[in-house]
Amino acid sequence: METKPTIPTAKAPSHYFTGDVYVDPICRGEDPSRMIVSSVHFAPSARTNWHSHAHGQTLHVTDGIGLVVSRDGTVIRMRPGDTVYTPPGEEHWHGAPEDKFMCHLAMLGGTNDGDGTTWLEPVTNEQYRAAHQQ
Ligand code: MN
Repeated sequence: METKPTIPTAKAPSHYFTGDVYVDPICRGEDPSRMIVSSVHFAPSARTNWHSHAHGQTLHVTDGIGLVVSRDGTVIRMRPGDTVYTPPGEEHWHGAPEDKFMCHLAMLGGTNDGDGTTWLEPVTNEQYRAAHQQ
């Protein structure tokens, strides 16, 4: 066995995220594993773009309140300890509410050429506010 080196925290790219988001990579599986695990920190109002994952994604909130929203308008509010799964190809976004930081573990299976995430357009302020009405 071995202790893996700690990877520095990286700012999430602004073309895939709105607001301040920081990613701590935790695990990139050794072949044949395709496991990818990251701890993702969202400032208040920060969120991902709309996107989907080729092999689905499991989110687990460790701090704050998380919002996960799908195209059909379903909104799930996640509290620390909650786990939410989005199936392969389901378009969704996730992020923090307007008044709270949020941290979640993001766990997914990668593909031959990357993490299998298809990035789409940003979540508009109207879409973001609408998610708070539920
Ligand atoms: Mn996702």
